[in-house]
Amino acid sequence: MAPDVLAVFWKHRQRFFWQPESGGILLGRRRGKHLEVLLATEPSSHDKRSTFSFGREAVGHAEVAQQTWLRGERQVDYLGEWHTHPQTVPIPSGIDRAEWCKLVLQRPEKSTLLTVVVGTKELRVELVDHVRHEVLESIPLRSGG
Ligand SMILES: [Zn+2]
Repeated sequence: MAPDVLAVFWKHRQRFFWQPESGGILLGRRRGKHLEVLLATEPSSHDKRSTFSFGREAVGHAEVAQQTWLRGERQVDYLGEWHTHPQTVPIPSGIDRAEWCKLVLQRPEKSTLLTVVVGTKELRVELVDHVRHEVLESIPLRSGG
């Protein structure tokens, strides 16, 4: 994961219970099984934010993806989703899993989805496909990557 990506997670981590959940999408490159995360979009003003549910409208995020695509020599693909939890060690909820499953089923070729849940001290990184999920890593969260 690129340092910029970690900086976005750090900035939006939920240090207090009353802060709203936030999140965005993960963009980067896919080379076979290897995923390289280059960009995490920040919550946009279109997002509806509340503490325990995170409803995302695609508009703002799609714009960012497109701008990056147009600006760069580098090609970026949609890799997955990230959002914050008010937990030290984040554990995806049943609702999260149901959402991810829906997203996988919507994808062309049902390709795997990379998911990151940002806690206050750790990141939980999972690779989700339509039958199972695989915990890739729990990474300690630090500033500046
Ligand atoms: Zn969640």
